[in-house]
Amino acid sequence: MKEHIDTIPVSEAYESADECPFCWLERQVEQKAIRYTAGPCASYMEPDVRGATDSQGFCRMHFKKLYDYGNSLGNALMMQSYLIGLRKELDVQLDNLELPPKKGLFAKKPQGDMPILEWLRKKNASCFLCGKINYNMNRYYATFFHMIKDAEFRTKVEGSKGLCMHHLEKLLEASGEYLGNGEREWFFETVGNLMHDNLTRIQGDLDWFVDKFDYRNATADWKNSKDAVSRTMQKLKGGFPADGPFQQK
Ligand SMILES: [Zn+2]
Ligand SMILES: [Zn+2]
Repeated sequence: MKEHIDTIPVSEAYESADECPFCWLERQVEQKAIRYTAGPCASYMEPDVRGATDSQGFCRMHFKKLYDYGNSLGNALMMQSYLIGLRKELDVQLDNLELPPKKGLFAKKPQGDMPILEWLRKKNASCFLCGKINYNMNRYYATFFHMIKDAEFRTKVEGSKGLCMHHLEKLLEASGEYLGNGEREWFFETVGNLMHDNLTRIQGDLDWFVDKFDYRNATADWKNSKDAVSRTMQKLKGGFPADGPFQQK
């Protein structure tokens, strides 16, 4: 298969032999996005990037990751201008606040939510980094469905360790849009087998991890179980629980 700029990372992800190639890609995409946002090229000083971080903000997980990354001044500057916009919007919401009706025996049930709640939900769900990561991951899902037309790549997929539950959902979701009729049966059969076989393997590793705490097994070999806890967590929810913080150099 002819490799190009989008297929190379997907090929590399499948060569990584990770528990989930899409977790592997997502980590790469996330670190790149953090470095782009708060790293040495100081994108946060460019008006269009600052405009985007001002309107989208960051989620809790990515605030933590930005904090760990370590550019305190960059974080302070991004929050400084974000706060100005947020306070303006909040003032409007508070000025137009409609009190919910008093609770009473004959009071009508409130119709829908208070507008401030809808505004808060939107505000709190929005994240510049999540947006960037989702955009890039969606491109990789499309690339994956393009690549499975190639027999050599299909063999690689068949030899992989399957997916985590999170990326199983994402890939099945994307399959509706990108999966061609020619690969349809192969895809669902392969993914089904991979999930079944690899969850059996993970469960075996986890069982042996627990059994190792039995004094009778104290001197027995760990086999593949030493990191069974973090690998099982990854299989169940995605991500890399054993990773240390990603920090600027
Ligand atoms: Zn995953
Ligand atoms: Zn986020």
